Amino acid sequence: MTSQYVLPELPYDPAALEPHISRRIMELHHDKHHAGYVAGANTALDKLADARDRRDFSAIAMLEKNLAFHVSGHVLHSLFWTNLSPDGGGEPSDALTDALDSTFGTVAAFREQMTQAAATIQGSGWALASWEPLARRVIVQQIYDHQGNHGQGTVPILAIDGWEHAYYLQYENRKADFLTAFWNIVNWDDVERRLTDARREHTKTAA
Ligand code: MN
Repeated sequence: MTSQYVLPELPYDPAALEPHISRRIMELHHDKHHAGYVAGANTALDKLADARDRRDFSAIAMLEKNLAFHVSGHVLHSLFWTNLSPDGGGEPSDALTDALDSTFGTVAAFREQMTQAAATIQGSGWALASWEPLARRVIVQQIYDHQGNHGQGTVPILAIDGWEHAYYLQYENRKADFLTAFWNIVNWDDVERRLTDARREHTKTAA
């Protein structure tokens, strides 16, 4: 059967984000963890195709859960790599600042909400900033695993991986230090590009 998903290359050397994120974390995170989600997504698709062929949907609930978990893991990690840059950090452009100010008041308040959403996840998960096309605004979401607690139809533009595999090898239990480091390498240009694309492509889907 045809595999649908492919692991993207990192857009920079795995050591490029040091000292903020170590080379070894990036290698394991991309080459092992992300690769595992890609493989898991393809396996789930193959098994669903097989179930259709055999007309045996006895395992469909498990397969659909696996599909949601692994596809979402693939989507969010692909986003996460491009949200980071060795040339990142600093402040967003005036246009992105205006978009964030309109909902959050200030960029600092937005950053604090994202940081707290990532810091307080119970278990494994993510903090996401997403374009919400009904109200046409950016919202912050606290995601469980890769897919839980997600607002339907929202388009992620900035992701913080709050799973322990994202930081523990370097920061151990000091997750707050990892989150501080994240903002030193955030790629605001990528976030702005994603917001511009989402605004153009994702308009209202329901009244
Ligand atoms: Mn991860």
